[in-house]
Parts: sequence; C-alpha cells; structure tokens
Amino acid sequence: MNTDLANAELGLDLERRIGKRSAAVIEKHLGITTVGGLLNYFPRRYMNRGELTPISEVPLDEEVTLIARVVSSSTRFMKTRRGSLTDVVITDDAGAGTGRPGTLKVSFFNGHRAKAELQPGRRALFSGKITRYGGALGLTNPDFQLLDKDPDTPGVDPEKLAAMPIPVYPATSKLTSWSIQKVVETLLDTADLDAVPDPLPAEITARERFVPVADAYRLIHAPHGPADWQHARDRFRYQEALVLQSALARRRAQLAAEEATARRAVPEGLLAAFDRQLPFTLTAGQAAVGKTLAAELAQDSPMNRLLQGEVGSGKTIVALRAMLQVVDAGGQAALLAPTEVLAAQHFESIRRTLGPLSRDGMLGGFGPDAVQVTLLTGSMPTAARKQAMLDAASGTAGIVIGTHALLSDNVSFYDLGLIVVDEQHRFGVEQRDVLRSKASKPPHLLVMTATPIPRTVAMTVFGDLETSVLDELPAGRAPITTHVVGLAEHPAWATRIWSRAREEIDSGHQVYIVCPKIGSDDDGDFSPGEAEPSAADLAGDNGARELASVAGVVELLRDEPALAGVPVAPLHGRLDPVLKSETMASFTANQTKLLVSTTVIEVGVDVHNATLMVILDADRFGISQLHQLRGRVGRGGLPGTCLLVTSLEPGHPSRRRLDAVAATTDGFVLSQEDLKLRREGDILGASQSGGRSTLKLLRVLEHEDVIARARQDAWQIVGGDPSLGAHPVLAAAIDEYLNPEKEAFLERG
Ligand code: ADP
Ligand code: MG
Repeated sequence: MNTDLANAELGLDLERRIGKRSAAVIEKHLGITTVGGLLNYFPRRYMNRGELTPISEVPLDEEVTLIARVVSSSTRFMKTRRGSLTDVVITDDAGAGTGRPGTLKVSFFNGHRAKAELQPGRRALFSGKITRYGGALGLTNPDFQLLDKDPDTPGVDPEKLAAMPIPVYPATSKLTSWSIQKVVETLLDTADLDAVPDPLPAEITARERFVPVADAYRLIHAPHGPADWQHARDRFRYQEALVLQSALARRRAQLAAEEATARRAVPEGLLAAFDRQLPFTLTAGQAAVGKTLAAELAQDSPMNRLLQGEVGSGKTIVALRAMLQVVDAGGQAALLAPTEVLAAQHFESIRRTLGPLSRDGMLGGFGPDAVQVTLLTGSMPTAARKQAMLDAASGTAGIVIGTHALLSDNVSFYDLGLIVVDEQHRFGVEQRDVLRSKASKPPHLLVMTATPIPRTVAMTVFGDLETSVLDELPAGRAPITTHVVGLAEHPAWATRIWSRAREEIDSGHQVYIVCPKIGSDDDGDFSPGEAEPSAADLAGDNGARELASVAGVVELLRDEPALAGVPVAPLHGRLDPVLKSETMASFTANQTKLLVSTTVIEVGVDVHNATLMVILDADRFGISQLHQLRGRVGRGGLPGTCLLVTSLEPGHPSRRRLDAVAATTDGFVLSQEDLKLRREGDILGASQSGGRSTLKLLRVLEHEDVIARARQDAWQIVGGDPSLGAHPVLAAAIDEYLNPEKEAFLERG
C-alpha cells in the first residue's frame, strides 16, 4: 500500500468535506485545515444531559461549558445607556451532588433570545468566561443552547437523547464547543471514514478488541453512551502510545544501524594506568556498567546509553573511564555539563583525579601520552576560548569539558569519539543531535542523569536509549540527616541555625547556605531549562514575604556574632565568571568556610569537606531540587546534615513537600511524590519528548500499562520491520507525530 494513498482522506482539505464557510471558520479559530486534523481534534471531556455541572467548581477566568437549570429571569431597561439587561439566575440544584448548591448570575445585554428562551425550569448549555462581580461568580453574554428542545437532533427519542453524552471540545471565546461539535458532525457524515487506514496492525486491534478506526472516530465524537467514547478513547490512546514508542524504537534502530568508529581498549594505555592509581575500588555496579560501556565502545555501531544513578553514586568515574578508553583508541571525548559552575567543577576534579595522567603544562605528566583536558565555556576570555577551540579542532585536547558553548557552530573536533552528557534533565534530544553532528561518523553517546525517573517517563523521554542503573552508593558514604526547621512555630531557631553552622566550621568542616534569590529585587537564579514549578505556583501564594537572598544573607552574617571571623563568600549565576570559579576554588580548597549561594550548586558540585547544608525558604523549591541540593553534603565519609528552613505554618500544603524530603533519602520514592505535583508538560517538555507534538490522550504518569504494552508491540514491529516498509500507515503517523506542523500525511489526494 502506498503511504500517500493510505492517507488521502485524512490529508484532504477540510473545505472539500464541510464547505468553504465552515472550513474557513475552523481554520481561523483552530488552525486546522485537513480532514485528519479535525477528526483528531478530540473532545476534552463529555457532559451528561441529565446532570448539572457543579457551579461551585467552575474555574474563574476560564472558558467553560456547563449545564444548568434556569431559576429566574428578569429584564430591565438600563438607566445610563440605551438597551435592556436580562439577568438570568441559573443553578446546579443541590450542587449537583456536592452538597453545596450553586447559583450563577448570567447577564445579557439586549438579550432578546435569552429573554424568550431562558424561562425558569429550562435546562441549557452555557459557554463563556466565568468572572467575578463584587464577590459573586457570573457569566456575561455567554452563548447558550437549550437542551430540552434540541433543534439539532430532530427525531431522536427524548429518552435516548437524555442519555447521550455531550462532547466538550477545547473551545475558544469565539468558537463554542457546540459550534465545533456541529461542524464535526457534518464531517462525520461527509468524510469517507471507511477509506481511513488504520495505523494499528490487525493483530493488535484484535487482541485489544478495539473497534475499527472509522467507528472509533464516530464514537469519540458522537457517542450514544459513555461506553462508546470510552472504547474509542482507549483505542486512540493506545494508538498514540504505539506511534510514540514506534518513533523511539525506529530512532533507536536507525542509530544502531549507523556506522561508528570502534574504540577498543588497549592493554597498556591511560585507562589501565588510571585504574592502577585509583584510590578506591569501584563498586560492583560501577564495574558492571564499565564493562558494558567498554564492550559497546569497542563496536562499530554507536553506543546510545542512559546511565541513571542516585546523587553521589559515582557516575563521573564511570564516564571518565569510558572517555579514557576512547582517548587510548585515538579519539576525543566531550563532556557536556548544564552549567558553567558544573563544567568548571568537572574540569578541576577530572584533572585532579587523573593526576599525572593529565597533561596540562604541569611537571611530571605521563609522558607524551598523557591526555590534555580542556575546558570550553561561553564566558571564558576570548583568547582562552580560542585556544580551547583550536585544541579541540586540532585534536590536541583529548577530553573537552564544556557547557552548551560546545554546541555552537564554530566548535569542531578533530575526531570526536564519545559524547558524555551529564545531568540530562536539562539537555534535550535536539541538543544531543547537534553534538552528534560534530563528528564525521556518529559518535558514541553516554547520557547521565541523577534525577530518579519513573519507568514510564524513562520509556518515553529516553526511549531511544539503552539504560544502565547504578543503584548502590560507594562504601563509606555517610548518611544525610534532614530536618525541617519551622520558624513559624520556633522563631528562636533562626539564630540557632548560625551557631549550628559555627559548630560545624569549628570542627573543621564547611557549610552551604542556599537561598531562593540573588538580591532583594529578583526572581531567583534558575538555570535555563528549569522545569520545576516554583513553590509559589504550587501553593498558590503570592509571596508577600521577603525571601532570603544571597546578598541579604551575606549582609546579615557579617553582623552575626556566632559566625564572627568566619570566611563567607557569595555564589550565584550573575557573578562574574572568573570570580565564580575563584569562589568555587576557594571553597574547594577549604579557605572559604561558608558558601552562600543560589541553586547553582544544585548539580554535581563535589566538596567532600562540606557537612552542613542550610536551605532557606526551602518551601520555594521542588522536591527533586531539594533532594539534589542535599546530595552536596555527606560526600566525603562524613555524615551530612540538611536543614530545610521555612516560615510557613505547619500544615501548609508546601510543608508536606519538605516533610517528604526529610522523611526519606530514596530518590525513587521522592520522584513519585514530586511527579504528583508536577504538570505533564514539565515532564515531557518539548525539547525532551523526542517529538514536538504534545500528547493528546496519553498521560505519562497515568497510563503506565498502556505505554508498556505499546512499547513491547513497537519493539516487535520495528524489530521485524526496521524501515516500517510493511507498516506505511504507522510510518506516516510517526512522521505526523514528529513534524506536526508539516502535516506529513498531507500528500493531497
Ligand atoms: P554522581 O553520581 O552524583 O555524579 P560523583 O561521580 O560525583 O557522583 O561521585 C561522588 C563522589 O564519590 C566523588 O567524590 C567520587 O570520587 C566518589 N566515588 C566514586 N566512586 C567511588 C567508589 N567506588 N568508592 C569511593 N568513592 C567513590
Ligand atoms: Mg555527577
């Protein structure tokens, strides 16, 4: 079957099926131009004619469609303007089962039809934006449609009609849900639905007992009862999951089919020398993952692997060993970090860990074979950056560590063999691809993430990668104890924090203080790509209270008797880059004892001597962010303490997050908690989802079983038919998913 023919009906201009006028309206308000586009514009939910919408639950300031009964209606002439005002009071009766009877005042200016039709006792659909008038909720000039005298369904037996769910489409202020419904009904009559091919293989349709695709379109748009739309929705949801998973499976198959340069380990190279000088033994997990990586790097198809591991599980060493194998084999390795601080930190610590194996102008290098480690970030002085670029391009640099500056066009490599992406949650598929394009042959790829990812998210966001997990922490890792410090109930603890910090410093250790803001007049220091909702979003509070800022706390500590004479330094993203790295270096060298910073230290920063972390206004941070932050202490075999300081009252919803973080250090438990509070879009951010389209019916957290089943099916289909030549409809659906704006099935029929 030919793909173009397969999708002729879906790709057809809407105009051909519903006429010029309707097509123009749909294009103008919904941006949809094809039959397929409108058929796939699914109702968001369904209403039951028999039930009234609970008015107390309708959201303010949103377009709503609701069913209500008219209580009273009165019309008067306005005093200050010409015309009449009809006030209609509508109700959900006894709160439609919520026990809170709700009424809403609906006002119409010159509402002649409203006056005539909205008589007490009538039921109607209303559509408009809910506003608040002097304390009471109201609707002004909404669209409405009587339900008990439905002009659009003549001849339908009233009892059947009463049971028919009303689809509610994502509407706009100019186009009501029922206007969309009417157009869709026309389309269902005129479109050649039986010519619409099914992207699902017949075996799957049979196994899942799905209705044929033509019926599914009818049932999802014009159901006769709830079972209808549920069946149809299950089918389209599965279809969505299969398309998504097939896209990932195909991508993985394509990547695996590419030819890469094999980077085989050499017996007496840098890696062997490095292993001999390691001051500790690798954990069993590190050794096992190391073996996997070594084997994959030695193959002539590219490695594409995700390494998941708790904060502190020792991912860097695993990556470094892989990089050394590649360098031994004559290639270069690039390590991509999400922030400048983290890149600089990796640079320092990797050079330190390599010792004499790193050739950096110091005496005592490992002969001419030592590897040059080069840092390349956007904020480096021009001369240094030019030199670094030159070293990368000429091959002088064996390991290049940098930020997204490595992605810029003018950075090139002599022979890039391995890309390591650290803390993936800030690097999307597109960025991975840009880096890949910097090698003449596809390089090997290792993506590392410390964020514990639920299974389905991993399947969806990283579905094109193989996965390895480091699930144990190196021996000697001391536990972190976390306490919530509630200043609302214990104001005196505010000063106790500083004497606690002093005790830590007096016993030779160091302290982090983390603030949500830099100065008194900014919104914080969140790195680009930060996907977490602020606590203010989550709690809905407007943050009237002044939040702790880096500048403010440094000021405060200057006069704090408990910390007299203690070297304190600020660190945040707006600091001059040179100053920033000097500050970090001074803290690493144990000269600065107390670092007051923003979340720039969130990922990867590794100072073993730091034992106490105080997070001020901790309620401003999300769960996984707090978990990441506290992973900075307790790293050097010394027990760590983390204080989550908050001024919120006990029982405030945001304090539950703090309690959750204090209750466990199990990242996977916390990630589940966290995800309950996050929005889907944050998880499947456009840059991370592997495709640009947003999911319609599939919810990554809710539909784990659907995703898992679809993934298995997809792997099987793509395994037997990597080019999808025998599955042209599925292939077309994938193209459409990956390039929605291109409307891949739009090969005009
Ligand atoms: P993460 O997985 O969070 O990136 P790192 O790679 O930064 O963790 O490792 C955390 C610390 O643990 C580093 O100081 C590292 O040197 C140390 N480390 C790594 N592996 C081991 C090991 N097998 N034994 C002891 N310490 C280790
Ligand atoms: Mg790390």
